[in-house]
Amino acid sequence: MAVRKHLQRVQLRDWEEIRFPAWPVDVTVELILEKLLVCLLQAGWADKIPFIWFWPDGFPSCAIMTHDVETEAGRDFCSGLMDLDDAYRIKSSFQVIPEGRYRVSESFLQEIRRRGFEINVHDLNHDGRLFNNWERFLVRAERINKHGREFGAAGFRSAVLYHNLDWYGALDFSYDMSVPSVGHLEAQRGGCCSVMPFFVGKVLELPVTTTQDYSLFHILNQHSTDLWKRQTARIMEKHGLASFIIHPDYLAEARARDTYKSLLAHLADLRSQRNMWIALPGEVNQWWRARSQMKLVPEGKAWMIEGPESDRARVAYAVLQDERLHYEVEPQGNCRRPPAEEYARVSRLTRTMAMGDKVMMHEQEL
Ligand SMILES: [Zn+2]
Repeated sequence: MAVRKHLQRVQLRDWEEIRFPAWPVDVTVELILEKLLVCLLQAGWADKIPFIWFWPDGFPSCAIMTHDVETEAGRDFCSGLMDLDDAYRIKSSFQVIPEGRYRVSESFLQEIRRRGFEINVHDLNHDGRLFNNWERFLVRAERINKHGREFGAAGFRSAVLYHNLDWYGALDFSYDMSVPSVGHLEAQRGGCCSVMPFFVGKVLELPVTTTQDYSLFHILNQHSTDLWKRQTARIMEKHGLASFIIHPDYLAEARARDTYKSLLAHLADLRSQRNMWIALPGEVNQWWRARSQMKLVPEGKAWMIEGPESDRARVAYAVLQDERLHYEVEPQGNCRRPPAEEYARVSRLTRTMAMGDKVMMHEQEL
């Protein structure tokens, strides 16, 4: 452990000099989209631009808690970790390594399911070589897919957050959680520069948007929640997804456990005071997929949302307030009626607005 820590510090020593992506949270993608909205509003294309709000039931932001189970000791602490999470009414996901690390018994998986937590596949054998070679990757992907079916898992995370998005087509999972927003402290640097889910072909990516417990405790040498709080605050400003990786393996130490409990308490506060949606990764996946199928359509002169789970969706508007972008979210079932000429202009915007899957507009009148 001491040698590993030393080698990592040497390998990562220049991390503070990296200027892009931005530490400790990179929101470049969100800033580009905001800039686009501001340009359109300033150019007078519309007084306000409708879109389908990011989260269900009007929640302003979202968080997921995930646990990668690295060793036998970690596996044996999963029960205790579920007790900890439950004490704060936070359900989480457990990423389980299917081969070579520890025995995965049916009773272990059953307990996770029975208690309302989630199981995902964590790599194949966690040797850090999953993406080294295409032919070998295909062989491994087949085994990973088989384990996914046996576990009843819809989600995947690779070892050490290694990723190669071009190869995702071989993975039979609905979502992946292996791409950091900013990877300064990861073995594979770079990052997706976003705090929102996004599609990679048929796979939904739920990016890792906060610093892993291991990096916080052993690379940054911190046992405070300050960094996590700063990251969460920045993510909430952008209405994004705060995702955490906490390993049962590193919680044996009382100091680490106390830090984790402070994080859980902070998230529970954000849920009660700021209405943050704390969900399972599978629920976020289900929502984001449903949202990508929804359409904004005019009914009379009002904007309505059609599609699966649209009863949980809200119409939102991007507006300018004092030259700054601002979002207004409609309360349920209360769609505002746009004036006719504004509706015509907004409709023409459909193709101009390249807001990924985030904006789905009616294409009539183009
Ligand atoms: Zn791992």
